[in-house]
Amino acid sequence: MIKCGKYTKEGGWTMELLEKRIQKDGTVKPGNVLKVDSFLNHQMDIELFGEMGREFQRLFADKPINKILTIEASGIGIACIAAQYFHVPVVFAKKSQSINLDGDVYCTKIESFTHKRIYDVIVSKKYLKPEDHILIIDDFLANGCAVNGLIDLIESAGATVEGIGIAIEKGQQAGGKLLREKGYRVESLAVIESMNDETGEIVFR
Ligand code: 5GP
Repeated sequence: MIKCGKYTKEGGWTMELLEKRIQKDGTVKPGNVLKVDSFLNHQMDIELFGEMGREFQRLFADKPINKILTIEASGIGIACIAAQYFHVPVVFAKKSQSINLDGDVYCTKIESFTHKRIYDVIVSKKYLKPEDHILIIDDFLANGCAVNGLIDLIESAGATVEGIGIAIEKGQQAGGKLLREKGYRVESLAVIESMNDETGEIVFR
């Protein structure tokens, strides 16, 4: 059996496996960007995703989750592997080029952290219903724009946000703190305290 976690002094659960992989293969870029293309954002390590999915299921086992919501593109792989442990469908919010005026979609605006532009993001009304209990999953949490956009879509549908599962939270940015202050349950598998693009140093919380 792979030992995949450890308790931190704050009592939270972090995935040692993921931290080690970030230390080994992650690179720090200027502008507070962590590149993890070799195992998460471009090439994907599915065995690692499996351990992450198992851990999300353990962390949210007390919640009546019947659907996972993520956003294209990088959240989809992680959400799909996690969904195998929850036995629920995955819906991904789509970045839309054209505004749909038919009224058959929920729409919100999300500012992209990495591309510095604002996207219209949509989900069909067919796939978000008031009776849904939703786990949001995404690869990164930075300022929280992506997650807040997804919360907006869920609230438009009258559905319930049961929790937010994040692979890598950049704790030096405010997104996680603000979401927890609003009362959302945020579980991040690795939380970065600081990182330095000159030395390449990455410190975990
Ligand atoms: P937020 O919306 O919380 O500011 O940023 C989260 C979104 O931006 C994620 O969906 C992720 O795709 C992207 N992102 C934010 N920070 C990073 C980063 O350091 N590295 C990578 N690869 N993506 C990031």
